[in-house]
Amino acid sequence: MNTVDLIQHQDSPRHIRLNPADNVAVVVNDQGVAAGSTFPDGLTAVEGIPQSHKVALVDIAAGEPVRRYGQVIGYALQAIPRGSWVRESQLRMPAAPALDRLPMADAVPAALPPLEGYTFEGYRNADGTVGTRNILGISTTVQCVTGVLEHAVARIRRELLPSYPNVDGVVALTHSYGCGVAITATDAYIPIRTVRNLARNPNLGGEALVIGLGCEKLQAEQVMHANDPSVDLREPWLYRLQDSSSGFAEMIEQIMALAEARLVKLNQRRRETVPASELILGMQCGGSDAFSGITANPALGYAADLLVRAGATVLFSENTEVRDAIYMLTARAETPAVAAALVREMDWYDRYLAKGEADRSANTTPGNKKGGLSNIVEKSLGSIVKSGSGAINGVLGPGERVAGKGLIYCATPASDFVCGTLQLAAGMNLHVFTTGRGTPYGLAMAPVIKVATRSELAERWPDLIDIDAGRIASGRSSIEELGWQLFHYYLEVASGRQQTWAERHRLHNDLVLFNPAPIT
Ligand code: CA
Repeated sequence: MNTVDLIQHQDSPRHIRLNPADNVAVVVNDQGVAAGSTFPDGLTAVEGIPQSHKVALVDIAAGEPVRRYGQVIGYALQAIPRGSWVRESQLRMPAAPALDRLPMADAVPAALPPLEGYTFEGYRNADGTVGTRNILGISTTVQCVTGVLEHAVARIRRELLPSYPNVDGVVALTHSYGCGVAITATDAYIPIRTVRNLARNPNLGGEALVIGLGCEKLQAEQVMHANDPSVDLREPWLYRLQDSSSGFAEMIEQIMALAEARLVKLNQRRRETVPASELILGMQCGGSDAFSGITANPALGYAADLLVRAGATVLFSENTEVRDAIYMLTARAETPAVAAALVREMDWYDRYLAKGEADRSANTTPGNKKGGLSNIVEKSLGSIVKSGSGAINGVLGPGERVAGKGLIYCATPASDFVCGTLQLAAGMNLHVFTTGRGTPYGLAMAPVIKVATRSELAERWPDLIDIDAGRIASGRSSIEELGWQLFHYYLEVASGRQQTWAERHRLHNDLVLFNPAPIT
């Protein structure tokens, strides 16, 4: 960083107002602002206000709405004087929008102009999908096999992988499902189809291999379907540990032999030039703060529009982070059927949460609140900005695999690793993740690009954060510039020319299935 950057970075008190209708703004300065500080518009802070927290731009009377993003994020429980720190405790949260009175596909954005000529280097699969990495994935039917399989995978990495330099890695698709579960329960299809669709992820090259125990409830045929073009079942693809006649050493030997047969095939693959339309980008945020909706998420939204214009598939998710802004999404749905599918997913999730006597407000974390997000309404309005400005073209249920192109709502919980797992099942071949508080999050099956909402985080964690979107808050970059930077970076990472920090350090969170069905 040069001197000019430093001066701009630690400059006089600054705040950002996102919409002319807003009566609060967000403090930008790394160290916050002290009582008595005056902003460029003449507003004086009447008390100290931390970075990313809100300052009242006008006197707000008790009962009046507090507006951010031009939307109501709460109602003042008491008078909030101009220049004071707007705290969560001063706000009454609005009720979630009723699902039976939503605008349905009545403000569909016009189709964006096509963006042609962009490509990346990827691995073309037999079913037409494209991988951004060339990974051997080993599926499992049940948690019982995890210890043995992880032992075998460690040996595969150490003893076999060096001989197959075109293979990027070996991943055991382990999980906690498979037995001790109500396999015929109404919602059991969600974890079952997730296990199946994880194995069909484009980054795994269609090489089917399943390790089972033998006596479990989830049977291998539910994980690998016959006549499925996305997996190759022409040679033996299943090994059950209970078929072993002599124990552990034989199990390891069998798994290693099955793995090596596939490493030979994967190693023969080469990248080829494919259109950018083959990207399936999954977008997520975690450890959000009040900057998420100002810097990183708008930049992702801009890049999402570019990808959609290039014909790609863009997934956004996180049910509890779109619920309060659902009226803005149903209006943008391409057709009434897409709007109805959005409502169906929200309604299902409302009832799922209600079973646990919870609602969407259970989403916000202590870190979110420390980062200036007063409630889930404010968090949602900042979260959906990731989806850009285009029409919503489709909706996926949890664990469902994507078929169409364009902007797709992939219904998942907001939990980082559950959402990541479900987006991998949807077919995501590249992941982008925005964070304000900071997380080392990563996935084994797809590259994860981490985008910081604030420069302070990007500078403090230079070996974990790939892109600094805080440049938008400090005026060093526009949303448009950062959006284009992201778009080009997506293509570089997808091509394998660039590795993300999570890849370089091999930071891999567990696959975590979403299992709303009972455990027995
Ligand atoms: Ca998340």
